[in-house]
Amino acid sequence: MSVTMLRIAGGDLDVVNGARVSFNTEHQELTDADAGLIRRLVRDGHTEPLRGVWAKFKLECSIGAARQVMTHKRYLAINERSTRYSEFEDAFVVPPLKRQVGKKMEYQFESLDTDTFDAAMETVQEAYHSAHIAYRELLVLGVSREDARSVLPLGLQTALIVSGDLVGWLRFLSRRTDPHAQDEIRTAAHDIERHLTDALPVTLEAWSIYGRKAL
Ligand SMILES: Cc1cc2nc3c(=O)[nH]c(=O)nc-3n(C[C@H](O)[C@H](O)[C@H](O)COP(=O)(O)OP(=O)(O)OC[C@H]3O[C@@H](n4cnc5c(N)ncnc54)[C@H](O)[C@@H]3O)c2cc1C
Repeated sequence: MSVTMLRIAGGDLDVVNGARVSFNTEHQELTDADAGLIRRLVRDGHTEPLRGVWAKFKLECSIGAARQVMTHKRYLAINERSTRYSEFEDAFVVPPLKRQVGKKMEYQFESLDTDTFDAAMETVQEAYHSAHIAYRELLVLGVSREDARSVLPLGLQTALIVSGDLVGWLRFLSRRTDPHAQDEIRTAAHDIERHLTDALPVTLEAWSIYGRKAL
């Protein structure tokens, strides 16, 4: 899994100036009062100045994680690499391979002992390898890409371009940095949060102070 920030438009000062137009003022540099204003906007859910900031990321992740990202399509724009229009390489995301215990919705995870982990890893690698061989064989037989892809597993690595305004990204982060989110998407969400924090340190800090909620 990898996260690349492709572009960001806006920073803390844009959030501030989005709000300060109400008073017909504009700041060239962020002041302490501006930091206070940002905290107040986040605390009280005044989201419009945050919607003026926009960011685009490339995610390389498994098809399983990509399906989870797709559930955020109502407020993030998402394009995915097509298994119809491109042939896929032998590139798969290996999950952390842990044990799941407890009731549904309240799962706990435990480490596997070394022998079990090694056996599980071998099974995963074999499954990925044989799936890719089957895929290649179907293509060599002249089967279309859209039919050959049916033998590929959820661990296949794909690529997404995801963009949206800051309110959308904070909503995504509230859902996917949560400890209940699955490892791969949670790791991606924390990487995205680091990029956004570099660009908007005051806004992201305020969002954390006020509970990391969907605004
Ligand atoms: C840990 C975890 C586990 C999950 N497990 C599953 C799972 O097993 N299966 C599954 O399918 N999904 C699952 N999801 C996805 C989840 O159900 C949501 O689809 C996803 O988190 C996006 O939710 P959201 O609230 O951010 O966005 P949305 O539900 O898209 O809401 C975005 C905004 O649109 C508004 N809105 C939504 N619908 C309407 C409407 N009809 N009219 C007007 N406004 C509307 C909302 O109020 C909100 O402001 C899981 C998510 C997480 C984080």
